[in-house]
Amino acid sequence: MEDTNGRTKDLSAEVLRDEAVARLHELGQVSDGQGHLERTFMSPASIRAGNLIRQWMEDAGLKTWVDQMGNVHGRTEGNNASSEALLLGSHLDTVIDAGIFDGSLGIVSALSAVKVLHINGKLGELVRPVEVIAFSDEEGVRFQSTFLGSAAVAGILPNSALQIMDKRGLTLQDVLKEKMVETGADGLLQLKYDSASVWGYVEVHIEQGPVLESIGFPLAVVKGIAGQTRLKVIVRGSQGHAGTVPMSMRQDPMAAAAELIVSLESLCKRPEDFLSYDNHCKGSDLKSHDGSLVCTVGEISTWPSASNVTFTVDIRAIDDMGREAVIYELHNQMYKICDRRSVSCLIERKHDANAVMCNRELSSKLKSAAYSAMKRMYGDIQEDVPELMSGAGHDAMAMSHITRVGMLFVRCRGGISHSPEEHVLEDDIWAAGLAVLAFLETQM
Ligand SMILES: [Zn+2]
Repeated sequence: MEDTNGRTKDLSAEVLRDEAVARLHELGQVSDGQGHLERTFMSPASIRAGNLIRQWMEDAGLKTWVDQMGNVHGRTEGNNASSEALLLGSHLDTVIDAGIFDGSLGIVSALSAVKVLHINGKLGELVRPVEVIAFSDEEGVRFQSTFLGSAAVAGILPNSALQIMDKRGLTLQDVLKEKMVETGADGLLQLKYDSASVWGYVEVHIEQGPVLESIGFPLAVVKGIAGQTRLKVIVRGSQGHAGTVPMSMRQDPMAAAAELIVSLESLCKRPEDFLSYDNHCKGSDLKSHDGSLVCTVGEISTWPSASNVTFTVDIRAIDDMGREAVIYELHNQMYKICDRRSVSCLIERKHDANAVMCNRELSSKLKSAAYSAMKRMYGDIQEDVPELMSGAGHDAMAMSHITRVGMLFVRCRGGISHSPEEHVLEDDIWAAGLAVLAFLETQM
């Protein structure tokens, strides 16, 4: 092999695979938990992770800063600072007992690709600014309201978000104050990027599903992201002494919650049995729910006593009108059940995101980039780069409010995510880095 080719290839494997893998493991050690990975919004470990990422950004030749919402930014101006910027990114926060790739892979692969350009002295050849952003909150663990970081950048975080409270009773505003950040409504507005200054947003993320593994391909282009609604349901009854209140007179919220949860499951397994589309969403296609409608119950708790039961409901669908129809029917069923059981039910809508379709031009560029990465690694390949829908929400959803978005999925073992079992092959990490690099090379 020729010397120059050999050198390029070594550099690519060294930075895009070996160093990227080492960085993912290093970042995976930055945790608030003992023996498990946990980084929630603005936690001590999140701040440490942000500092580490900032060092890597500087190492890749980027100018860095941290904004008021804790998002970490690294930017190079390329040869035309006034041109619209390409944004690349993902999130640095994690769920509790997380894997090390969700979110982090998107940040690390983007930085590795930029670093290769930096080493080769090519950052100045980029025709537009390129900015990598590590968003501070996507998982929404602390405030149960997702995309705090990217929503602030996209300018869709309402002022009321400052008053939402975590489990310790601290509001978002308190938490920011604790970090010496004074953020009022004006401060939030200042974080918003002007859409005229942004060319597009691209995110690399693990698939969080088993499709790529089943077809034996490392990368996919994402066609779109399912819409999502998160509800908080509060059931209030009367605890009653276990021994003295007879069954016929009991108002047990726990039993009511159990019935509500099972009815939710039935509704989402067979929406056609419950929904009359003429009434709820004219023009929507019932079939579009097939396979994409998913409703689950996340947390359930009794607090301050068994007379109060709270649980969260997560509803996702590709079809926004269909999702609304499901929520409407869910309300109906819940109030019927609660009425019959003489308990009070309150449904709070905590988070809403409409489905997002990825931009065609970005997707086609990403597809070519993924293809050229594959070709570089494995020689001639016959298969087409697959296209998948995303059932999980991503920062790209928030960013779609200010710019067009494109996403690449990376194969993960068994489709497992949000678990220490989450795993990505080292060569697939390399493939992701190579694809981002090939994409950046289209911007020269
Ligand atoms: Zn994620």
